[in-house]
Amino acid sequence: MKKLVIKNLHVSTIEGTKILNGVDLEVLENEKVALLGPNGHGKSTLLNAIMGNPKYVINEGSIYYDDKDVLSLSVDERSKLGLFLGMQHPSEIPGVINAEFLKAAVNARTEKPVSFYKFYSLLNNACNDLKFQLDMTSRSLNDGFSGGEKKRNEILQMRILNPSLVMLDEIDSGLDVDAINLVAEQINKQYEEQKSAFLVISHYARLYDLISPTRAVVIINGKIAVEGGVEIIKRIDKEGYEWIETELGISVKKQDTKKPIVIETCAVKDKING
Ligand code: ADP
Ligand code: MG
Repeated sequence: MKKLVIKNLHVSTIEGTKILNGVDLEVLENEKVALLGPNGHGKSTLLNAIMGNPKYVINEGSIYYDDKDVLSLSVDERSKLGLFLGMQHPSEIPGVINAEFLKAAVNARTEKPVSFYKFYSLLNNACNDLKFQLDMTSRSLNDGFSGGEKKRNEILQMRILNPSLVMLDEIDSGLDVDAINLVAEQINKQYEEQKSAFLVISHYARLYDLISPTRAVVIINGKIAVEGGVEIIKRIDKEGYEWIETELGISVKKQDTKKPIVIETCAVKDKING
């Protein structure tokens, strides 16, 4: 069984700012884990550290996937091992054609280069599923794409590369309701048909309602503070993160005290209405 095992992970930025302070987390095959936490508490850092973003330094701890020492691997080796990160802010890469980038990534995973016909049908089907215009794939990667197009392009990559562990960082931000439904459908398809495991960050209960996570973990101050079932998502959606402070005695570092820390608009309305 392929599983992700993270032990006592401490991560800083290359400038030396400490972000993660001892994360322990396991994601088993066929789990769909919701990763929650207030802004600025280390969610994206965790996913970037797993994927090998060079902006982050691992100070201590280990990450194993499928019994392989992930920290000893390059980003492309991690990708070939089955890890995938749908980024919060996908980069624009002028001059690199989207479809060629995808084809190179597919070829890097197979012994023989994929035939034009096979790749085209893979791409065409994935685009149809996502209602993504095929001509988006002949443009430079993410160059001038809208926020929603960038996010759908990440999901297109997921469908084509077929990773066994999919990490999605706020994949629903910038998507309209129809696009969220399409993206959720593709996540569910990937989970059901390919049995991929998922680690999904979102601030919105809507996405979680559509993809039905198997459990939830909450990162506070660079550490996992709470783990449990999906009832945690409902509670955070309704009440924000304050109960973690009052009930569990964990002081939650605030990034911007003017904004209430909540995961859905209804919780904001509750606060406004008292
Ligand atoms: P989250 O995804 O939970 O909102 P992040 O992991 O993005 O939080 O960031 C955690 C903290 O680390 C934030 O205060 C953020 O500003 C800081 N941080 C993240 N990446 C960098 C970086 N490359 N350089 C400097 N600070 C960073
Ligand atoms: Mg983030």
